[in-house]
Amino acid sequence: MSVDISVVIPVYNEEPAIEHSLEVVRGHLDKIGRSYELVCVDDGSRDRTLERLLAAAAADPRVRPVPLARNFGKEAAMAAGLSEARGRALIFMDADLQHPPSLIARMVELWAEGYDVVSAVKETRARESLVYRMMTWVFNALMAGAARGDFRGASDFKLIDRQVVDALMQCAERNRFFRGLVTWVGFRTTEIPFTVAERLHGTTKWSLVGLIRYSIRNLIAFSALPLKMVTAMGFGTLVFAAGLGAQTLWRYLDGEALSGFTTVILLQLILGGLLLTSVGVIALYVAVIYDEVKHRPMFLVRRPRPGEQGGAHEDR
Ligand code: UDP
Ligand code: MG
Repeated sequence: MSVDISVVIPVYNEEPAIEHSLEVVRGHLDKIGRSYELVCVDDGSRDRTLERLLAAAAADPRVRPVPLARNFGKEAAMAAGLSEARGRALIFMDADLQHPPSLIARMVELWAEGYDVVSAVKETRARESLVYRMMTWVFNALMAGAARGDFRGASDFKLIDRQVVDALMQCAERNRFFRGLVTWVGFRTTEIPFTVAERLHGTTKWSLVGLIRYSIRNLIAFSALPLKMVTAMGFGTLVFAAGLGAQTLWRYLDGEALSGFTTVILLQLILGGLLLTSVGVIALYVAVIYDEVKHRPMFLVRRPRPGEQGGAHEDR
């Protein structure tokens, strides 16, 4: 059995929000008058989110909880949704209503008109700290250079056609960056602007450290740009070294005594720093390659057994 639209929602510790969110999303979907399912990937929540989802599924079979065995992160949760969803079009959205569900109708309309990807682009942002905004700016600029797409305002709120789903499933990498991959596969794409809503319940699931790690990971996993930057840096140093070397040699042959202690110390420090940074960048790539060659599954599903008491994660 296939449905028209699968809404894929990664859910992590959203106990206070999830019921209301599902209610609102369902209200908007009902108005469209197409068959649909709500694929709710529980990303190893430690609160009673899964129980809420299972209860919602018992009341409405269109709600399909996909419980992961632990917290695998939002990207993995979205990958799980990608393979579980059966719709002819998939809509990815957050569980906290920061992605306005009122846009779903327009997305479906554009899909019916023949677009394969409908991306919602952040026009104005919700309250975000200056540090966060600076970081997203740097990250988006680097990603834009790396993936040849405009990532300013890009979000994971997207509708994608089944053909795009199949294309994404062929991208077998474990370190996934959904937004980047959707840009990379191409297809007929259009955008609609939206305003990020404030979070009604709970708090963001991202810590600053988590966000920095996620950004570096995505950049490394998606592009060889940092590696090329290392090469460029090395070449630059070489040119500089050749110039300085020639000058030093000239002075030596000229019989001039050298009093360059400061120069030596500075060169040592600068070269040491450059070398260690370069090795660090290469190490980041080795780490990602290591991760990829292990070929571990991106996520694991843990379905509650029949008659099981409580949730899958109550022991934690
Ligand atoms: N999320 C997830 N796994 C995680 C962290 C977050 O599935 O490890 C989900 C979360 O429940 C929400 C979405 O990803 O539906 C976006 O998270 P959040 O709202 O915390 O991020 P923000 O909107 O602040 O970027
Ligand atoms: Mg949010």
